[in-house]
Amino acid sequence: MDLTLKVIEGSRQDLFIAGERVAPRSGRYMPSYDPTNAAPWYEVADAGADDVDAAVQAAKRAFHDPAWRRLTQTDRGKLLRRLADLIAEHADELAAIETRDNGKLLKEMRVQLRAAPDSYLYFAGMADKLHGETIPVNKLDMLNFTLREPIGVVGMISPWNSPLMLLTGTLAPCLAIGNTVVVKPSEHTSASTLALAELIAKAGFPAGVFNVITGKGATAGEALTLHPDVAKIAFTGSTATGRRIAANRLVSCQMELGGKSPHVVFADTDIERAVNGVVAGVFAAAGQTCIAGSRCFVEKSIYAAFVEKLADRTRRVRIGHPTDEDTEIGPLALAAQLDKVEQYVDYGVADGARLVAGGHRPRRDDLPGGWYYEPTVLADARNDMRFMRDEIFGPVVGVVSFDNESELIGLANDTHYGLAAGVWTRDIDRALRFARNVDAGTVWVNTYRSAAYMSPSGGFKESGYGKRGGFEVMREFSRLKNVVIDYSGATQDPFVIRLC
Ligand code: NAD
Repeated sequence: MDLTLKVIEGSRQDLFIAGERVAPRSGRYMPSYDPTNAAPWYEVADAGADDVDAAVQAAKRAFHDPAWRRLTQTDRGKLLRRLADLIAEHADELAAIETRDNGKLLKEMRVQLRAAPDSYLYFAGMADKLHGETIPVNKLDMLNFTLREPIGVVGMISPWNSPLMLLTGTLAPCLAIGNTVVVKPSEHTSASTLALAELIAKAGFPAGVFNVITGKGATAGEALTLHPDVAKIAFTGSTATGRRIAANRLVSCQMELGGKSPHVVFADTDIERAVNGVVAGVFAAAGQTCIAGSRCFVEKSIYAAFVEKLADRTRRVRIGHPTDEDTEIGPLALAAQLDKVEQYVDYGVADGARLVAGGHRPRRDDLPGGWYYEPTVLADARNDMRFMRDEIFGPVVGVVSFDNESELIGLANDTHYGLAAGVWTRDIDRALRFARNVDAGTVWVNTYRSAAYMSPSGGFKESGYGKRGGFEVMREFSRLKNVVIDYSGATQDPFVIRLC
């Protein structure tokens, strides 16, 4: 199987429905751009509602087909293990595709894709461990139990920043449970999900279990979320889109949305490690991570020294082509994203924040036409500044000084997001108090952006709801049915409820 860039370059990528590549009914395609030079490098099908319906019908048929429905959980686990092996074999090719599509560092995408097989193996092992419970009731001749069942067709919508890693978190458990899936990847990064479809077919999953619809959010994405045969939606993307999806249809959703995460530095910490942690938290992936620690709170006694060190490290961040091993920041994924970052830095300066590093598009002859932006530090920030309230999704951090721990918790939680938080301190009591009191689905102490597929992740507040990762996601994507059996043989008064 050839998944190399040369096969995709210049190609027209069709949809993947019922195990086959299918042209969109409208015949329309749209370009996918290389963020390093803003040039289109392949075309992807621009699906309409009729294509979405075909994919959902294929997934629905597959869900009821005995080839999938009557497959044992052990056999589903075996299929997932085969898929894990195939992903391992092709991890570097998949990583190269993602880097070409979203401009993120090749070394980062390789780590993500080389780790993906472990995630599939983890959920392969879960396939036969999902079960209901027997519940004792007050009537001794009654059996009361629960069944854990697949839900049906799951519609998945993914963003462009880590397409396959984010998809894995919901796809692997869905396949382990026995659901079928229609994925709508971001229109900016469709190629890796289509490549994955080839691997899923090769692993032996029945046709229709996994389908890919490509196209725009407002058309293909919206048609998928509105389709009455989609039983559950797994959405990863912006809070604005999540809100629209949730309002559109009464259907169970798992929402992984945006963030504006607090990253806290106490004076008792190792300042060099903390600077490194803050840089990792907000500048990795050019800030295009939902968990970006974009609001940095620093204890007053070390504030000036910390800002100086952070600014110094930020100025030394190596901007370059994402395939170069030495590069630390590549381009942003989209032209619109570059404009947005620039706009928000302007808002910050206009609101009175002090620009101490970055703040420009780099002017370099060796980066022609790419969507690059310097990592940027805005000191003396406040929570009420616009760039501190809205998610920017770019390499921009605001730094705020705080006096004490109780003030800090108020500042950290003063946001409508609640995805992640980080704290640097040597005081374990303080770390635990922070972890308890901060409104965030994930809290890191003396580390940041440490991900594990065995951890339940997911935000609070407007960062979303529902979990992925760990066993929790198996509950999220299965449904719980209660069965009550009366084996007393007695006939009851038909007009009185039977309390048991
Ligand atoms: P986006 O909301 O613009 O798009 C995400 C996906 O939704 C894309 O596939 C898009 O085509 C689709 N979409 C857009 N409009 C739609 C509609 N009306 N109906 C259905 N689908 C629609 O987000 P993005 O710019 O691609 O990604 C960046 C955002 O994703 C950021 O806000 C980031 O924080 C968030 N994100 C969250 C997580 C998380 O785990 N919480 C992870 C990664 C990214």
